[in-house]
Amino acid sequence: MSQFSFNVNTRIEGALGRTGQISTPHGAISTPAFIPVGTKATVKSVLPESMKELGAQALLANAYHLYLQPGPDIVDEAGGLGAFMNWPGPTFTDSGGFQVLSLGVGFKKVIAMDEKTFRSDEVIADKKERLAHVDDDGVTFKSHLDGSMHRFTPEISLQIQHKLGADIMFAFDECTTLHNTRGYQQKSLERTRLWAKRCLVEHGRLTAERSHKPYQALFGVLQGAQYEDLRRKAARDLAGLNEDGITFDGFGLGGALDKAKLGEIVGWLCEELPEDKPRHLLGIGEPDDLFVGVENGADTFDCVAPSRQARTSAVFTKDGRVNLTNAKFQRKFAPISEDCDCYTCTHYTAAYLNHLFKAKEMLASTLATIHNERFIVTLVDRMRQTIESGEFYDFKAEFLGRFYTKK
Ligand SMILES: [Zn+2]
Repeated sequence: MSQFSFNVNTRIEGALGRTGQISTPHGAISTPAFIPVGTKATVKSVLPESMKELGAQALLANAYHLYLQPGPDIVDEAGGLGAFMNWPGPTFTDSGGFQVLSLGVGFKKVIAMDEKTFRSDEVIADKKERLAHVDDDGVTFKSHLDGSMHRFTPEISLQIQHKLGADIMFAFDECTTLHNTRGYQQKSLERTRLWAKRCLVEHGRLTAERSHKPYQALFGVLQGAQYEDLRRKAARDLAGLNEDGITFDGFGLGGALDKAKLGEIVGWLCEELPEDKPRHLLGIGEPDDLFVGVENGADTFDCVAPSRQARTSAVFTKDGRVNLTNAKFQRKFAPISEDCDCYTCTHYTAAYLNHLFKAKEMLASTLATIHNERFIVTLVDRMRQTIESGEFYDFKAEFLGRFYTKK
């Protein structure tokens, strides 16, 4: 029995967005939902108990990082990712495909692009050496930790992810950039399709071999960059795969996403995908992008941005992002946000956080991260609630109008 299911509750009228519920062996996730990232089996500087208290329904860790350190065998022996990090709820791992390639060439998830942008298959960030090489069988890459050489194939990624034991895993894919030529995107899409088939076969084998373990769901990852025909083909191809009865349990909307076209791209994919399977938009967490993703049919989201920005003293408020080291917070003996109900805002002042950041105290990161994760988690929770109540567009207009208006 799969112990994994998804059901749709309410739809946004005239759009692809919907609410629903994902059931996993470690609990349920009401969608749309934002899934905070604990890359190395920890949300940096924050206790798992605090993540639960601030409303996180699940956490996402990274297969590439956990493969390098401490290694999948140790996580497996610990009883899986959740047990290892004392998080009893649902967990996700991404395949490592994005990391082995992006750490190799140093590209960003969302690239601002105009028509004149230089296109090449050899784009490498300034002063970065290419650390990853892709062939039809897999990717050979250099560890960012010690420079040692490693190889991921679809089979190896699935073996690692089965040992990590997350409830939701992602198929190994080739993540291209917006700078790649169309010819390369096409070739890469076929490679990712063939890898997806191999992932399903290996997933079936490992599920049978590890039948004493809780079921782990596998999501296929859809690429195709900014091209409508390639995106639609990717969705149809992966939704149609069936390897001896093994099919994808859901889909990851992945790859290079042009911010200006994000809604269109998610829409193309979701129009082609089956209604009854969940869709995860990989690596997206800016407020405006989350609204666009939800409206166009994405159910779950993950992003390192809320915690990464918090550690640099950038925090969210309803009036936009502010920097806590700004002199105006030195004597603000009031919470970061008067209307925020997070642990940080109900116990500490902005003046205290301003001091902690300036003094480079570790507690600064902890308190700011709790606030930012709460902000983004509740933002997506509100989207879910307003879809249910029929007020999604009112909420969207009100929130975006206030958040992105320069004061
Ligand atoms: Zn707060």
